[in-house]
Amino acid sequence: MSLISFKDNTGSEIFNNVLSESLHENHERLTNQNISFLNNCEKCIVCGNGMEKNEETQILQPLLKHHVSYFPQVIAYVHCKCHQKIHDPENPITSLIQYEKGDSLKFYNQKKAIGAMA
Ligand SMILES: [Zn+2]
Ligand SMILES: [Zn+2]
Repeated sequence: MSLISFKDNTGSEIFNNVLSESLHENHERLTNQNISFLNNCEKCIVCGNGMEKNEETQILQPLLKHHVSYFPQVIAYVHCKCHQKIHDPENPITSLIQYEKGDSLKFYNQKKAIGAMA
């Protein structure tokens, strides 16, 4: 059973509009924090397609944020399955991985440290 379900499309459409709006707001907020984005939150940078809908609920599936670089922060929006392609151990998409090994750990440790101070 899914958490949210709608009897007709009207409900999911309203929900999707609200969702899309909040995704844009979030995007805007991050852009203001000196974070660079390679693309728009509605399109996947790997395959170029827009957000997919859950077949059952007709709810949009927000794209994932993939860090292309951590210092400085550069982010690209991708589908979950396309994200797996970027990090494919055998054939990674190296043009979208511009950070050094260990950067992500350093980044999340820093974030944790900042969080602890707040
Ligand atoms: Zn994609
Ligand atoms: Zn990633």
